[in-house]
Amino acid sequence: MRKRELCYREYVRILTQNEDHALVQMLATSTRSGLKFCPLEYIRVMSKELDRAISDCHLVKPESVVIEDLTVPKQIDRLDIFPSGSITDEVKQCEIISRFIEQCKGKNVLVYTDGSVYNGPVGCGSCASVLFPVSESDEVITQTSVVGQKVRSDDCEVEGIVLGIKMIVQYFQYCTSTRLVDDVYMFCDCDSAIEAVDKMVWNKFPATLRNLRKLLYQLEEMSVSVKLIKLPGNTGILGNVMADHSARDLAYKIFKGDVTASKSISIHDAYRIALEIAKKSWQRQWDNESTGRYTYNLIPIVGTKVICPSERSVGISYFRMLVHDTMLQDDSYRTGIADTPICECGQDNETVEHLLLRCSIHTEARQVMFDCMKDIGFLSKHKRITENLLLAPPCDKDISKKDNRIVKESLFEFLSSINRTI
Ligand SMILES: [Zn+2]
Repeated sequence: MRKRELCYREYVRILTQNEDHALVQMLATSTRSGLKFCPLEYIRVMSKELDRAISDCHLVKPESVVIEDLTVPKQIDRLDIFPSGSITDEVKQCEIISRFIEQCKGKNVLVYTDGSVYNGPVGCGSCASVLFPVSESDEVITQTSVVGQKVRSDDCEVEGIVLGIKMIVQYFQYCTSTRLVDDVYMFCDCDSAIEAVDKMVWNKFPATLRNLRKLLYQLEEMSVSVKLIKLPGNTGILGNVMADHSARDLAYKIFKGDVTASKSISIHDAYRIALEIAKKSWQRQWDNESTGRYTYNLIPIVGTKVICPSERSVGISYFRMLVHDTMLQDDSYRTGIADTPICECGQDNETVEHLLLRCSIHTEARQVMFDCMKDIGFLSKHKRITENLLLAPPCDKDISKKDNRIVKESLFEFLSSINRTI
């Protein structure tokens, strides 16, 4: 997986070089003789699948940020309605936000923005913004914008905010009422997009933020300030629903080919596609492999995170158990190191399962382990504790991350206390 990914990254890097770059030329001309590859030919062959995925796209080189870009008028600011996780219940959050919006009616311009991507994490993307004017008799304005055919949801969400700001500028340019208006409130359900705009994260969205910067100067001239508010998911708030639908519709139209969109792809997104392809190919191999099936049963999904114990010797024992190659009698007998597979207790073969769940020598340590699991209600949730449940990292949603951490900690404690080389 790593080898393939490295080849992909190198391939993308070479593609972004100028035509006359030595590596580009070598990539075009290098060959192989039988199984003897020139390095660049090897990269090219390894990257065929990636090439198919991005060959019709225009790769955008990373832009360097000019110092003068960094000064930006502070016309846009984040407003936290629920400071530092004070209210975490989503239903309550929705109630508070709805009340807040009710109070703003007739006083503030309200804008809702959303982005949408169809067909994969890097796919056809669009954004939409809905502007509710101060006077309720004025028409609600919805605008959408195409983002691209190979973009991520973050790109679309940030574009959505910029589109919203553009609409605010237009609104105040043509606004007939001359009365002084309070702040504009803008709602977005994507935290990282709000963060990107609030902190102006140039390296990720250089072109979009450059557009935003121009708009912010216009807002400054008009003395309009925008407060950005994070909406919890699925609020059912009208403006948010409208923005969501409009963005989704447009993303689907781009996918169907009814609307044209740029095929530019940023180098970061190309890396992301490369990672997805490499992971899929690794998963395919892992699914069809004939060896390592014990480990496959424990960890069927590649890239699953495994918790490591802090104590090194326990870590070695744990990983030996995961790959089914331990120093226990049963394994040692299989590999010809021991004369018998029988455990010291004399009751059965010393397998991992026997050690963890049955061996009478470790009853006391096992009781401590089970007591810890009982405390978190794990034993009542899982009637039968199996070696798989103890060893495997959770690959589905059956076991929460918190429960898993406690189960693994008790297992590591058990392994540490039994004093048996595994
Ligand atoms: Zn035993």
